[in-house]
Amino acid sequence: MSEPLKPCPFCEGEVTLDHDGNTQWISCTKCSYESCFIVDNFWNTRPIEDALRDEIAVLKSKLQISEGRIEDMIEVQKKYMIFDLSKHDGDPT
Ligand SMILES: [Zn+2]
Repeated sequence: MSEPLKPCPFCEGEVTLDHDGNTQWISCTKCSYESCFIVDNFWNTRPIEDALRDEIAVLKSKLQISEGRIEDMIEVQKKYMIFDLSKHDGDPT
């Protein structure tokens, strides 16, 4: 296998590749999960997990941008003392 093995899908533990001459398998060093699904790098093929990790990265990026904007708004509020958000109860009336 050319690329490093992904961690255990159940506990994120480190895995090891073992063999007994005829069979290869992957073992989790943390939860003891074992799998023989290592043919053609199957172990590292996790399209749903990869898609979710990509989506999480995009959402984290958007969250950081939003947090930056909120911090900017707070700084503007502090600078101009327009209104005190802590005293606003959310009721527009
Ligand atoms: Zn595990």
